[in-house]
Amino acid sequence: MTDITKEIVLAALKRIAAPDGRGNIVSAGLVSEIAISDGKVMFALNTEPQHLKSMEALRGVVEKVVSELPGVNKVLVALTAEQQPARPVGPKVSSAQRLRHGVPGVKHLVAVASGKGGVGKSTTAINLALGLRSLGLKVAVLDADVYGPSMPKLFGLTGKPEASDAEGKRMKPMMRYGVEVASIGFLVDEATPMIWRGPMVMSALTQLLREVSWGETDVMIVDMPPGTGDAQLTLAQQTPLSGAVIVSTPQDLALIDARKGLNMFRKVNVPVIGIVENMSYFVCTKCGERHEIFGYGGAREEAERLGVPFLGEVPLDKEVRLRSDSGEPVVVSMPDSLHATIYRDIARQVWAAIEGGRLSKPAPRIAVES
Ligand code: ADP
Repeated sequence: MTDITKEIVLAALKRIAAPDGRGNIVSAGLVSEIAISDGKVMFALNTEPQHLKSMEALRGVVEKVVSELPGVNKVLVALTAEQQPARPVGPKVSSAQRLRHGVPGVKHLVAVASGKGGVGKSTTAINLALGLRSLGLKVAVLDADVYGPSMPKLFGLTGKPEASDAEGKRMKPMMRYGVEVASIGFLVDEATPMIWRGPMVMSALTQLLREVSWGETDVMIVDMPPGTGDAQLTLAQQTPLSGAVIVSTPQDLALIDARKGLNMFRKVNVPVIGIVENMSYFVCTKCGERHEIFGYGGAREEAERLGVPFLGEVPLDKEVRLRSDSGEPVVVSMPDSLHATIYRDIARQVWAAIEGGRLSKPAPRIAVES
């Protein structure tokens, strides 16, 4: 079969008229950069927030046209009220401007983010999710880390999700430890390196939000891609988040990155629920002595200075790594451990913040679009 290319997709899109009757959707500048991976075509249609409803019909047409091209096996088209990536985002960006693609039945979306990779963001995300679950809440995890989707591994999940309808248009979330899970890794072949731009991440995420049959959920934890680039900014801006948790190590450099993360959420009006300091200290299993490898307490001080709640410090521990890597997160596999206690405590604070109204602004309502 011939491989599908951007040029072929663009040529097809150029035959679709723009809604205002002036030219086609490509010449009208409505189509974002197109990403193609393994027969999956992803892009976004840029629109104004007030036109989202009417653009829905156009999206249907566009998806149909592209899905009928030879060599296409999946099409992901998102509607985004796109900010130009290079344009600084000012305080004028309100939650009302965010994409209204909420998830039916999901009360709160909470992002877990970090200014850079490798600080333990995903480990925190899964254990926070399981901590929330241990409070008796209905919890889901959405793995949006396009640079290294790790939730299937951390949950010990293998295989692909099943279809939840006869046409294979929707998929069931995978289920482990009482938590529903979907990963961007289900949509994209991990082995195919891709450059992710904001609108593409958004289109893949929108697809997961829209086409996974999520059950009734109190909190959905969104494991964000690390960093504060265009992709992260678009996600933060256009996902109806109730709040964000920032993970940092105590190192100064990481804290500088964490500050960038904090500022990113503030700029787009997403309340920061608090900072978690990971790999905070290490207790030697032989001598019992506490070693502050990265310098201790930096995140707590920084949180105080920035006026953001400090949610807790998670020590560096070989068990955490070993259990994470083997798909048995500590909160479920070692529920009586210090780590599990810390994660449950963080979970309690997060829930209190989103349900108890401690956040500085009301959580954006999740509008359900048909
Ligand atoms: P990120 O999502 O920020 O890239 P991960 O959660 O994937 O980071 O963690 C990176 C590595 O560090 C993983 O191997 C993980 O098991 C390990 N790790 C994370 N937190 C801890 C901790 N508190 N103690 C020991 N190892 C940890």
